Amino acid sequence: MALTLKNVWITGLLKTMILFLDFDGVLHPIPTDARGHFCHLPRLEEFLRKHEQVQVVVSSSWREAYPWEVIVEIFAADVQSRIIDMTPIFQISNRYDEIQGWRVANRYDGPWLALDDAVNEFPLPCGHLIECETAVGLDDAVLARLTVAAEADHFVSIEDAEESFQEVCDRGRLL
Ligand SMILES: [Mg+2]
Repeated sequence: MALTLKNVWITGLLKTMILFLDFDGVLHPIPTDARGHFCHLPRLEEFLRKHEQVQVVVSSSWREAYPWEVIVEIFAADVQSRIIDMTPIFQISNRYDEIQGWRVANRYDGPWLALDDAVNEFPLPCGHLIECETAVGLDDAVLARLTVAAEADHFVSIEDAEESFQEVCDRGRLL
């Protein structure tokens, strides 16, 4: 983003949100079907393109089985820069604790969501959890819930930020 008054305004309004992302039962159903691994990934990539401030931290057990470079290359080239990290691996623990471990290690106190089918690895109710059904994964209904959560009051969409900038311009306060 070029350093213009408009972009500074928009960046100030938009807050980073971290999406802790599971793969199995999310980006593809388990068991997998004829559509294969990552059949739902285009749906998530489209979400990321529309929500520029969402950054992804991989929480999937795939992070234990594959090198980081391989994990990142699963995603489309234009969103790879948004896949920023993975959660730490705790031997005797659960996914929620690993997420908290990442937040503490990174001193991250901002908004976050977890897209996951492993409901039993989270304290319930967990307002941050966007639950997928293992045998279904990230379908349109889950995507709708994810979108609502990402656009809740702690997060402003790029369209909202641009509108806000325009309103201020129209009132003659900036230009
Ligand atoms: Mg899973």
